[in-house]
Amino acid sequence: MSAPRLDIHLDQIGHNARSLVNRLEVKGIAVCGVTKATLGSPEIARQILAGGATSLGESRIENIEKLRGAGIEAELILIRSPMMSQIDRVVSSADVSLNSELDVISGLSACALGQNRRHGVILMVELGDLREGIMPCDLHEFVSRVLALPGIELRGIGTNLACQSGVIPDGANMSELSALASSIESTFGVVLEIISGGNSANLPWAFDATTDVGRINHLRLGESILLGREPIHRSVLSGLHADAVSLVGEVIESKEKPSQPRGAQGQTAFGESVQHRQARGESHRIIVALGHQDLDPDGITPPIGFEILGASSDHLVLACVASAPVVGSELRFGLNYSALVRSMTSPFVSRNYVETDQEA
Ligand SMILES: *Cc1c(COP(=O)(O)O)cnc(C)c1O
Repeated sequence: MSAPRLDIHLDQIGHNARSLVNRLEVKGIAVCGVTKATLGSPEIARQILAGGATSLGESRIENIEKLRGAGIEAELILIRSPMMSQIDRVVSSADVSLNSELDVISGLSACALGQNRRHGVILMVELGDLREGIMPCDLHEFVSRVLALPGIELRGIGTNLACQSGVIPDGANMSELSALASSIESTFGVVLEIISGGNSANLPWAFDATTDVGRINHLRLGESILLGREPIHRSVLSGLHADAVSLVGEVIESKEKPSQPRGAQGQTAFGESVQHRQARGESHRIIVALGHQDLDPDGITPPIGFEILGASSDHLVLACVASAPVVGSELRFGLNYSALVRSMTSPFVSRNYVETDQEA
């Protein structure tokens, strides 16, 4: 099999989705499965839908078009504000988009009328993390304008925390969103179908036994489904698989080498200066054919007995304390979210979809 490659255990991803859907269902919360870290993989999307997600979320229109083209009929939500230059494509392929700019929503309305359809919008509210969102004080005025647009269906409101400033979803910010939903409904006499509380970082809040979820009835989950972790402390969620996706690289050099460099030293390929390691005489070093072009080398975990010494564009250098692998053999690495996104979107990394749990 070719390397580098991602071994993707579809059944484990499906299990993670199913487990989250079941545990949130009892709280009245539906799951939008976010596939943005997978480059819009239809194989993964199908697993997440089979696990009970009611819609799929994608940040790029290209990936939404790919999912549609693969025959996925589920509701598709563009979870990044549409670019003005792409609004026509957004209306054609996405059912709903997350929005925070009136000009964009006006444009979506005009495109929708042109295409003889209505486009759903969820208005994003800024609740402290300072990424996308309408300021709460501006929300009522904003809603009144959106309701006047004939091509737009106001589906709900939402927020996104944790991604930009690490703000933790909690009782205070979630109640604020619930209260905004209720006040919009009573002011305008509308029903907001979706109150989207956030992403995987909301799970510790949602699963806390003391939590009253209020009006929140929707979460957009990516990392927790793919990697089994919540992003606040990066702990593994109970009962979920954290290794549904792993990365396999091939050894291209395996030799005894000195533990210290020889010669005057300047910057390395990526501008870091090498820290001096404790001299340990000769040590066994290997090179795996992986680098910055394939992944985020800081986000991978080597197998036991190996230590990552550094990475350039195409070379990953490791020290090995266990028995040295021969040239041509493979090494398997764990991935964090950053390494997952980069490797899934690298043209050099292939994918091996594993249907059943062969290596359990
Ligand atoms: C990425 C993203 C998500 C999913 O986040 P995870 O932490 O992977 O669950 C949800 N909503 C928005 C707006 C996003 O950008």
